[in-house]
Amino acid sequence: MEHLMALQCICCGRQYTPAEVEYTCPACGVRGILEVLYDYKRIAADFSKETLTANPDRSIWRYRPLLPVEPSSPVPSLHVGNSPLYPVDRLRVALGMSRLWVKDDGRNPTASLKDRASAVGIVKALECGAQVVTCASTGNAAASWAGMAASLGLPCTIFVPKTAPQGKLAQLLIFGATVFPVEGTYDDAFALAIQATARFGWYNRNTAYNPYLVEGKKTVALELAEQMNWQVPDVVFVPVGDGCILSGVFKGFVDLLSLGWIERIPTIIGVQSEGSRVLEMAWRTHSPLSFAPSSTVADSIAAGMPANGEMALRDLYRWDGRMVAVPDAEILAAMRLLGEKTGIFAEPAAAASLAGLRAALKRGWVREDQTIVLLVTGNGLKDVGSALSTVTMPNPIAPTLEAVEKALLDQTETRSSSKPTFGSSESVQRP
Ligand SMILES: *Cc1c(COP(=O)(O)O)cnc(C)c1O
Ligand SMILES: [Zn+2]
Repeated sequence: MEHLMALQCICCGRQYTPAEVEYTCPACGVRGILEVLYDYKRIAADFSKETLTANPDRSIWRYRPLLPVEPSSPVPSLHVGNSPLYPVDRLRVALGMSRLWVKDDGRNPTASLKDRASAVGIVKALECGAQVVTCASTGNAAASWAGMAASLGLPCTIFVPKTAPQGKLAQLLIFGATVFPVEGTYDDAFALAIQATARFGWYNRNTAYNPYLVEGKKTVALELAEQMNWQVPDVVFVPVGDGCILSGVFKGFVDLLSLGWIERIPTIIGVQSEGSRVLEMAWRTHSPLSFAPSSTVADSIAAGMPANGEMALRDLYRWDGRMVAVPDAEILAAMRLLGEKTGIFAEPAAAASLAGLRAALKRGWVREDQTIVLLVTGNGLKDVGSALSTVTMPNPIAPTLEAVEKALLDQTETRSSSKPTFGSSESVQRP
């Protein structure tokens, strides 16, 4: 991997070669998250916008010269990436905006953005001869890890909080993973997976612990920039749990800036739930990350101690990013608004980006005439329970036209008496 310069610890700055370390900095322990540094000069020697345009591969592997894998390593057959970037006119008009886009990463093979990270992670697992792979996850990372492992025939062991939504558990079991539902939180499952990795010699995909996941996640930014013909948007909204997608989005744009393919880094706004806002709190108060129990309907962004928190904070300060926290009620309302105005079905965490945009508009952090992109990170079918909690299930009717007419009449009456709302300004937290 001559295009890779080093793995650098974000705590102490020590540098390592990929052969020297597998996960975190030996001197700093789990806090010593490693960042992949590239030799952009070398990469630019045979990677250009032109070679990219000529490449018929639409998956994330079209960006392979910017990924931390051996040029000849086999990759999983599941098609990851090339998620659509939609102009969403009806949503745009509803919000009174000029230029609004939604990038729907729920369109990945296991229906979340996590596939981008898992695809790169599984190639690293194969490169180091792993026999069994493992991870802890709130659900989506595990589902995508299990899917990638199944596509390559690697046994997979998963630790999830036992409260993970059924859809995500179903994916794990259908992919044939060995599943340990943990009586505890995501943070408990995370620690347990690391212990099991040390004990049993498995290959671990825990977020931030494994240095290669940010590299997979950054492909969403590379792709977005390419889809926008290298004219980056003004603002990108990103749902945030561990902060790995957030750092991935920054990293993708930093890569492109380093190559001279784009002129600036967009303003990145990370969105958390008020019930899981450790990163938002640390950023807003300029204080160290400090654990707080998480409780939110957006299970994919529930993290009591964001695993990639240090790197995410560094990126936010370095590139003038921002964080906003929104109440669960607004996340659920955003899920409905997105569905009704675009036909895109997001899981709660994925709809948080829209809730974040609403909050940012109210605060004057973004203007209606800016070019805005919302990242939708996971599909709503993963968590049907949350979706159903925001709607009213209609009563069954007799199979007659009269019954339809009566039902239509009843509906008109209820519609006019209860208009769906999008939260109130009182519930929006002020900085
Ligand atoms: C994992 C996940 C997130 C948050 O990503 P982090 O890297 O943990 O910040 C957001 N949305 C969905 C759907 C996810 O699965
Ligand atoms: Zn270190």
